[in-house]
Amino acid sequence: MISTILIIGGGQAGAQAIDTLRKEGFGGRLVLIGDEPQLPYQRPPLSKKYLCGEMAAERLLFRHQSFYDEHRIELKLGTRAVRLDAGARQVGLAGGETLTYDRLLLCLGAESRRLTCPGAELAGVHYLRGLADVAPIQTGFKPQARVVIIGGGYIGLETAATCRKMGCEVTVLEMADRIMNRVVAPAVSQYFAAEHRLHGVDILCDMRVTRLEGRERVERVVCADGSSHEADLVIVGVGAVATTELAISAGLACDNGIVVDEYCRTSDAAIYAAGDCTNHPSPRFGRRVRLESVDNAFEQAKTAALNMLDRPVAHDRVPWFWSDQFDNKLLIVGLSQDYDRQVLRGDPASRSFSVCYLKGSELLAVEAVNHSKDYMAARKLIADRTPLQADRLADASLALKDAV
Ligand SMILES: Cc1cc2nc3c(=O)[nH]c(=O)nc-3n(C[C@H](O)[C@H](O)[C@H](O)COP(=O)(O)OP(=O)(O)OC[C@H]3O[C@@H](n4cnc5c(N)ncnc54)[C@H](O)[C@@H]3O)c2cc1C
Repeated sequence: MISTILIIGGGQAGAQAIDTLRKEGFGGRLVLIGDEPQLPYQRPPLSKKYLCGEMAAERLLFRHQSFYDEHRIELKLGTRAVRLDAGARQVGLAGGETLTYDRLLLCLGAESRRLTCPGAELAGVHYLRGLADVAPIQTGFKPQARVVIIGGGYIGLETAATCRKMGCEVTVLEMADRIMNRVVAPAVSQYFAAEHRLHGVDILCDMRVTRLEGRERVERVVCADGSSHEADLVIVGVGAVATTELAISAGLACDNGIVVDEYCRTSDAAIYAAGDCTNHPSPRFGRRVRLESVDNAFEQAKTAALNMLDRPVAHDRVPWFWSDQFDNKLLIVGLSQDYDRQVLRGDPASRSFSVCYLKGSELLAVEAVNHSKDYMAARKLIADRTPLQADRLADASLALKDAV
């Protein structure tokens, strides 16, 4: 008999799990423990509309207080879970309280990877992961303020676009030879680099940051090639690491995330995990992955909730992700590793194109730039493993779904 479910982590996954548990009829005690003080909120606008002040904080919330009251959710916000005793099925909170569970769901998310070079601790150096990170960045938004962004991944680039919109002078320093190099094809990197440059962002690749300098606060960023970049504000976007401390301390299997099976179960039968913090199998792609996306957190949390209620269902989704930079929308669906051929559909100069990844005749992934039709078609083709013809695929006058 499951009478108490605890959820640790009040982000995307935690909020979704609550929804599903109550919708699916769980009537027992449901407690959400979150170390951020706010009601669960969405993170994507933090680097986009919320950062530039176009969206009110109220609109970030998934649900208002009344929802939690009506659904009898015990909220323990601004409270960190600091102990997990899997044997006794108990969680200890920072304030000293101990809670006992029948099922536990870990939705611990991920944390910004920190810079370790000299000067990394100077004032004026910022990270962007949670709501509390936004206001200190916004206070630096003054016309012509010099913003140096370290890292040309999604968060760095979205933030660069927003800072530029706010009138700042923006430089992006990327260590690799192209932006978003780990996640998109060269054609997509080139397109976005050109878009950023067109809007006045200085994109510099092959730049390894060696130190940050300044007296009371950061004044410049120095790179291995000897170049120095004057900065009033530095924003670091060099990736994120799964939050696993609590799971490791409880003896749960962890390896680049909390290891779960396709039912979102950890190495302890009463403990489940969902979202950015998990390392999970993807049956569709035949390998383990750790994903950082809204879609993954949302879908895994739904699956975990059902499994916690002893309704077995496997998590086997084709992952997808989006990024907004200036007026461009990048949509990525599938996993591109293991491909043997890339096919470009359309002309990047038209500002709408996609890159398809094939293994033999099987479509593994698509990166669609301002092309939601290709993205929509790809979701189905990838899920169904529909065999495609590469030459038809390359013909952008044919709809993607007709390349079969
Ligand atoms: C700035 C930004 C922009 C993004 N943009 C996009 C986008 O455009 N598209 C997209 O698909 N994805 C985007 N993402 C990623 C997406 O937001 C995450 O993948 C998603 O939020 C993951 O949800 P989660 O519930 O796993 O983790 P989170 O939302 O990170 O929530 C985890 C929560 O657990 C809390 N926690 C951790 N440890 C404890 C503890 N011991 N006790 C109590 N609480 C704890 C954390 O503080 C946090 O509140 C973006 C992320 C950021 C930061």
